[in-house]
Amino acid sequence: AKVNEEADVVVIGGGPGGYVAAIKAGQLGFKTTCVEKRGSLGGTCLNVGCIPSKALLQSSHMYHDAKSRFANHGVQVSGLEIDVAKMMKQKEQAVFGLTKGIEGLFKKNSVGYVKGEAALTSPNEVKVQLTEGGEKSIGAKHIIIATGSDVRQVPGVPIDEQKIVSSTGALELKKVPKKMVVIGGGYIGLEMGSVWGRLGSEVTVVEFADSIVPGMDGEVRRAFQRTLEKQKMKFKLKTKVVGVDTSGDGVVLFLEPAGGGAQEQFQADVVLVSVGRVPYTTNLGLEQLGIKTDQWGRIEVDDHFRTNVPSVYAIGDVIPGPMLAHKAEEDGVACVELLAGKAGHVDYNTVPGIVYTHPEVAMVGKTEEELKAAGVEYRAGKFPFLANSRARTIEDADGLVKILADKKTDKILGVHVMGPNAGELIMEGVLAMQYGGASEDIARTCHGHPTLSEAIKEAAMATYDKPIHI
Ligand code: FAD
Repeated sequence: AKVNEEADVVVIGGGPGGYVAAIKAGQLGFKTTCVEKRGSLGGTCLNVGCIPSKALLQSSHMYHDAKSRFANHGVQVSGLEIDVAKMMKQKEQAVFGLTKGIEGLFKKNSVGYVKGEAALTSPNEVKVQLTEGGEKSIGAKHIIIATGSDVRQVPGVPIDEQKIVSSTGALELKKVPKKMVVIGGGYIGLEMGSVWGRLGSEVTVVEFADSIVPGMDGEVRRAFQRTLEKQKMKFKLKTKVVGVDTSGDGVVLFLEPAGGGAQEQFQADVVLVSVGRVPYTTNLGLEQLGIKTDQWGRIEVDDHFRTNVPSVYAIGDVIPGPMLAHKAEEDGVACVELLAGKAGHVDYNTVPGIVYTHPEVAMVGKTEEELKAAGVEYRAGKFPFLANSRARTIEDADGLVKILADKKTDKILGVHVMGPNAGELIMEGVLAMQYGGASEDIARTCHGHPTLSEAIKEAAMATYDKPIHI
């Protein structure tokens, strides 16, 4: 086919992996084009993920605070109301501003932006079905696949984005459902469940496993579940959804114990399916080129993000590793730096995970369970936010910090925080681990007072010595 355009680097997908890779490529002097089919840049994260969810979490948190906590501080409000349409508008403005911002960054870094769906037609060429109609073929020295992920479906529970919604529909509900069922107790389900729960929905989380948020440190997870229960979120663990009936007004769910047993019916107005995400490679041309994927459909890459076809690379949610925006961004930068002959590298041991409920839960490194299973000798230092002065003054003292350090060397192996702003606080642990730090390094670092971060310092002290304030 006739090649209409030549580039050094073509990036397929404009999510946090793809757009960051494209900007970095522009910065390093590559002639770069990014192809995105969605109509706006930013991918899942900016359009239907991280960003809109955090906007709604903030709005619902403000409402909930005004309703339940303002009075304790002597702030009286009356006539408190929710305007869901306005809430959605604020969210849309945030999303719009940020996605447009990426277009600006593309211009600044001379990155070409092609709107359309791309498929690989050879190791050095992609064909784009342009959104505005017609086709375009782009020749490239290097092709980076950053096509991300899509919602995982539950058999027997077809998503219609009205009554049975994915996270995308849950970000756009027109009114607060009276009863909401969340299928899947992962972070996305808990965040969206929190949004609608705070606004008045009765939320029940149905989870197949015997605990919520797999991968979270057990002690923290149990504390987290208790907290969510105090917020009136209900849990049906070890339960599977085997089917739904949407013929009536709402939805009837058919539930069974995970291990088999008597069926039960459960009524809801809206059901959110959030059982994880699957890599998205539909119509990409992988089979034709013989690009290898694993049993979960993830594109296989080596530690330089190379697929088995030279000149084709892959990053972000579409390759193995945590399906997180910041991980995709790190992949993007490292992949392009390696293309430029630089030393790109991502340390997957220090990718933080954050749940943006209230309180937030954040983690990096190993859990206690993982250390036990690996036979590593460790010490655990803990400190509750109840003993942190700042948390007490802001009346937000539910949660704890837990630091796990090697018993002999004191090297930090994992940091777990449940508490206000845990997502920001965790970065101290991430940085310490990145530098190969010991818990004593954190403990002997002067922390500002009164700050929530003092809880990190005290937990670090508790790891090898004694904390002061408990
Ligand atoms: P994506 O963001 O999925 O981007 C891929 C892009 O490629 C898409 O825009 C798609 O349209 C495009 N594309 C696909 N195929 C083609 C093609 N053939 N041609 C052209 N374009 C194509 N992560 C966090 O770190 N923090 C959070 O708080 C967080 N919250 C989330 C909340 C929700 C509700 C969801 C659903 C996800 C959340 N995530 C969060 C996960 C995060 O969104 C993803 O990890 C991240 O977006 C992955 O980036 P990516 O670039 O790999 O893929």
